[in-house]
Amino acid sequence: MAEQHFVVIGNGPAGNEAALTLREHAPEARVTIISRERGGCFRPHFLPRFVVGKLAEEDLYLSSAVSYRDKGIKLRSGQEVVSVHPDKRKIILDHKEIISFDGLIIAVGGRPRIPENLMVFGDLMLTLKTVQDAKVWIRKLNETDTVLMIGGDLTSLSFTKQLVDVGKKVCFALNDDAFWPLRFDRYLYNQVAGRLRENGVEVLEYSRIRGMSLLSDGMIEVNTDYEKVRAGLVGAFFGLKPDIAFLARSGLKIDRGILVDEYLHAGFEGVYATGDCAQVFHPDLRDYWVSIGHDNAVALGRTAALNLIGERVRAEPDMACIFDVQGVQVNSSWWMEF
Ligand SMILES: Cc1cc2nc3c(=O)[nH]c(=O)nc-3n(C[C@H](O)[C@H](O)[C@H](O)COP(=O)(O)OP(=O)(O)OC[C@H]3O[C@@H](n4cnc5c(N)ncnc54)[C@H](O)[C@@H]3O)c2cc1C
Repeated sequence: MAEQHFVVIGNGPAGNEAALTLREHAPEARVTIISRERGGCFRPHFLPRFVVGKLAEEDLYLSSAVSYRDKGIKLRSGQEVVSVHPDKRKIILDHKEIISFDGLIIAVGGRPRIPENLMVFGDLMLTLKTVQDAKVWIRKLNETDTVLMIGGDLTSLSFTKQLVDVGKKVCFALNDDAFWPLRFDRYLYNQVAGRLRENGVEVLEYSRIRGMSLLSDGMIEVNTDYEKVRAGLVGAFFGLKPDIAFLARSGLKIDRGILVDEYLHAGFEGVYATGDCAQVFHPDLRDYWVSIGHDNAVALGRTAALNLIGERVRAEPDMACIFDVQGVQVNSSWWMEF
C-alpha cells in the first residue's frame, strides 16, 4: 500500500496534538504540519505571563521545531494555506505550491476580532495572539506605564491581572462587546467591574469609541461617548474569531466555525476540523458548540487524529462549561480563573 500523507493545517495546541497523535498511531504515514507562524508550537495562553517577564520565551513552547524533526514530523513553518480543495484532496500554499493529502486536519484556531467601526484605528491598538504580538507589547511597555484595555474579552482579564501585578496603571473600558464569548449582562458586568476595581484597575463604562489619535508626546487619546482618556498603549480585546476566511470557496460548511459532526468530520472523506476553529455537532444538545481554551483544543486535536486513522471517538464537551453566546453554544471553563 502506498504511503499515506496526513496534513495538519495550523500548529497551535490542537494541531500539535493532532500531529503527535498521528505520528504515534500511524508510524508508517507521512505527517506534515503547515504553520503560518515560524518556530514550534507555542501556548497562546502563556503570552500574558511572557509579556510581563514572568515566563521565559522557551517556556512558551509545547513542541520545538527540532522535536518535530526528531519525531519524523515535517514542519513547514512560516507558510500559509490559502485554499483547500477537499474534493480533490489538495491544498494550496501562499507561494502557490500544491500539496496532496490522504487525510487533512484543519486546526487554524482564531485571530483577534476588531469591530468594523474600530478598524480605522487599527494602527493605534495592539492585540495579543502571537509571539510577535507579545514582543511588540514588551517593547512598548518598556516605554510607558499606562495601558487602556478596550473591549474586554476573557483573554484580556488574565492579561490585565498580569499588567497590574508588575505595577502598570491599567484603565479598562467595558461596553456591551465585553466578555466575549459570554453574553454581556449587568450581573456579569458588576462582577467583573468589581473584581477589576479590587485589583486596582480603573473601570470606564462606554457605549462607543468616537475617536482615537496619537498625540505629539506619544500618548494615545481615546474619545468615548462620555470622556477622553489618555494612555501610552491601547489594547483591543474583542475576542478571537475562527481564522477561516480562506475556506470560503472550499465547499466546507461554515457558520461561526467549520461545521463538523461529533467525530469532528467535516463532510468530505478524510477531512476533519478541530480546536477553536471547529463548530461541533452535539447529538444530545441537537446543536453545535464551539470550544475556546487550551485544554479543550488539545483534547479535540487528539480526537480528530484518532478518527482520521479509523477510530470512532466522540468529541465530548464538559456540559457544565457550555454557555449560550448569541445563539452559539460555547464550551469554555478557563475564564472563571480570573
Ligand atoms: C492572550 C490569550 C490568553 C488566553 N488565555 C487562556 C487561558 O487562560 N486559558 C485557556 O484555556 N485558554 C486561553 N486562551 C485561549 C487558547 O489559547 C486557545 O483556545 C487555544 O490556543 C486554541 O488552540 P488551537 O490550536 O485551536 O488554535 P490556535 O492556538 O489559534 O492555533 C492555530 C494556529 O493555526 C495557524 N494558522 C491559522 N491559519 C492558518 C493558515 N491558513 N495556514 C497555516 N497556519 C494557519 C495560526 O497561525 C496558529 O498558530 C488564551 C488565548 C489568548 C490569545
